[in-house]
Amino acid sequence: MTVNCAVIVAKDEGEARTLAKEAVRKGAQALEFRLDSFPVIPDDLSFFACGVPSIATFRSPLDEERKEIFLRALASGATYIDIESDSVLRDQFPKEQVICSYHDFEKTPSADKILEIFQDLQSFGIPKAAFMVRGPADLLSVWNAASVLRERGSPFILIGMGAAGEITRLRSSDLGSMLNYCALRPELASAPGQITLEEAARLGIDPVVTAVTGWPLTHTSSPDIHNAAFKAAKISGRYVKIPSAPEELDLIPDVIRNYRITGMNVTIPHKEAVISFLKRIDPLANSAGAVNTIRNSPTGLEGYNTDILGIAATLALVDADPNGAEVLIIGAGGAAKAAAAYLNAAGARISIANRTHARAETLAKTFGARAVKIEELGPAYTIILNATPAGMSGFEDRSPVPDSIFTKDAVVMDMIYDPEMTPLLAAAKTAGVRACVNGKTMLIEQAAASFTLWTGVIPDRDVMRTAFEERAA
Ligand code: NAP
Repeated sequence: MTVNCAVIVAKDEGEARTLAKEAVRKGAQALEFRLDSFPVIPDDLSFFACGVPSIATFRSPLDEERKEIFLRALASGATYIDIESDSVLRDQFPKEQVICSYHDFEKTPSADKILEIFQDLQSFGIPKAAFMVRGPADLLSVWNAASVLRERGSPFILIGMGAAGEITRLRSSDLGSMLNYCALRPELASAPGQITLEEAARLGIDPVVTAVTGWPLTHTSSPDIHNAAFKAAKISGRYVKIPSAPEELDLIPDVIRNYRITGMNVTIPHKEAVISFLKRIDPLANSAGAVNTIRNSPTGLEGYNTDILGIAATLALVDADPNGAEVLIIGAGGAAKAAAAYLNAAGARISIANRTHARAETLAKTFGARAVKIEELGPAYTIILNATPAGMSGFEDRSPVPDSIFTKDAVVMDMIYDPEMTPLLAAAKTAGVRACVNGKTMLIEQAAASFTLWTGVIPDRDVMRTAFEERAA
């Protein structure tokens, strides 16, 4: 059974006792005291006798000093001492009292190499290794090595570090790891990707896990939005980031199956490529040629496009009925294609205008729409939808279409959410159109639709919006 072990990082003996009490009260089943966090090692180490198994860790090159401190810690009630695999101290204590540890803060080696490392570690105590996880290949190395170690039946500790390794902590029980190291508070995390004790207690041993993949996956607000929704819905669930370089994308199905991921969002540049490994694809996602949501169903992986649901929900919120409406889509990229797939299915009469007119013509042909040159646009539309980054922070600060296209009964939707008021929306508002809406609603609605597909629960949109705004602030 995996035990949640809180890491105690204190400055003195009094603080160590206080934090230890707090950790046990919050459900810690073991404590690791980082003696290297003390400016001076206290005379009294009796905090090690804390009612749960305790570990003394002291990273330092001064082995003679460390040896004496480890002996005192054990005499004061420490259950284990943590000694690095390359330390001369590793064979100077009884094996039953040693956790022999190995860290690689750069990478995760192959499963075979991990097993070799464990072979060496277990000669000196309970083997513990932590590797920096960068993506699907590393997650599978950890998984495959853990499967062999589990079979052998002896205790071991295996951790994937970093944001991409968070799922190894959430699934530490599946991996068979003896300990799941947790931070007492977020600011006290002692390793990258460590979750807090409170979060570990909330999640329990078998949380729902959802994820997002893309490359690179730096600026995504999805974890904040979904994790807020999980909490509000009282679901023990967690949404994690799993960046995947294009050459590792075909490993994603094994990651989903092994780590029991309920669902995964897919973002740039993988929305088209993931289709090749899906068992079933929703007809609207199929006509858009893009999937942004994978559901792990008992019969296989299914693909959906909730960007389309986000567009539909946004238009519905401003009472814009596409059936029979004259609609202008600005842009001819992935988002424009998703919009065209939905609007075509909804019975709209579609025109497409794009900076590169030839691309507008190609997209128009797919959906039986008209391609219109930007300079030839007139006031002919009741729904206008911008699917370009023109006006987005970091892009040119101007509307992609002339102001003369707006009419009083038009609804204007901009997929951009930063800034909230884009040049297109500002011009539309000045022209007195019926309604304006930015991309924040679409962002929240696509996330909400994914959440419902995975959990069957309708999430609290206000909570999701607040989480997004707090993150963006
Ligand atoms: P994409 O596939 O790269 O397509 C970009 C499109 O915008 C192309 O048609 C491109 O025209 C045009 N474009 C690029 N820069 C332009 C500029 N400076 N002026 C005029 N047109 C320009 O991107 P995408 O995935 O479709 O995304 C398009 C926009 O939708 C982005 O701003 C994205 O943030 C937004 N979006 C929002 C949500 C949401 O949830 N709110 C979801 C998806 C997308 P060319 O053909 O001439 O290159």
